[in-house]
Amino acid sequence: MKKLSIDLDGQVALVTGASRGIGAAIARALASCGCHVVVNYRTNRDLAEGVVDSIRSSGGSAEAKGFDVMNGETVKQAVKEIASTHERIDILVNNAGVSKDGLILRTRESDLDEMLGTALKGSFFCTSNVARYMLKRHYGRIVNITSVVGLGGNAGQSVYSAAKASLVGFTKSAAKELATRGILVNAVAPGFIDTDMTSNIDKDKLLGVIPVGRVGMPGDVAGVVAFLCSDLGSYITGQVIVVDGGLYM
Ligand code: NAP
Repeated sequence: MKKLSIDLDGQVALVTGASRGIGAAIARALASCGCHVVVNYRTNRDLAEGVVDSIRSSGGSAEAKGFDVMNGETVKQAVKEIASTHERIDILVNNAGVSKDGLILRTRESDLDEMLGTALKGSFFCTSNVARYMLKRHYGRIVNITSVVGLGGNAGQSVYSAAKASLVGFTKSAAKELATRGILVNAVAPGFIDTDMTSNIDKDKLLGVIPVGRVGMPGDVAGVVAFLCSDLGSYITGQVIVVDGGLYM
């Protein structure tokens, strides 16, 4: 009997914000399934090169590419370069994100611009540019990384939650628009995942409200993304898959 496995051999994936945390784990997971992975970063080039080195030393294929997803022109140029080098982009993971927590009365407009800009504008710019190449090949998998707070809200995270909620609407609309063209669009909503973004949160206090009794690790999210990008997920589009150990039910 043939064993079920995730085989993405020969595919090209772009993962935004992959220099660390969840994005780095997604890059490693997709590379382990056979993808050539473009590891995007904004400022941390050394970390991104480290992710690339770790993939290559495990026998995988990757390259680092720095660009700010909020800047439409640089996204366009970067995607054009990736497509002309590899002649395809099969997978896009819109993972880049910024969280600046604060009460409504204390949130600055610049924080709002950065959170919405990274989540919504960034995902839109990457999707619209990459979809151009996916449409030509009639194949693509797009996964947007949202958050459980985009579904349920959280005090002190009004703008971050709104930015993440915007990705849900974007995911569902893009899924409807692109489904007949062989492109599936889904979202993954992590709960509390142990990364730089959550380093200032007291994990012990959270354990009591996470039913599985542990915080999430970046690999917990990465496995679900790999599943959605594989043939195993070929009848799923427009969905938000929650990965939170039962935190949000
Ligand atoms: P993280 O450790 O803070 O990493 C953020 C990544 O995003 C970094 O690689 C960063 O690049 C990149 N980035 C930020 N702004 C960017 C921009 N404008 N252009 C390109 N790259 C940019 O965050 P994380 O915890 O791994 O989170 C990854 C995603 O999961 C985010 O969308 C976040 O909202 C979401 N999420 C996280 C959690 C959690 O508990 N950690 C829960 C739910 C959802 P540089 O290193 O170059 O700065």
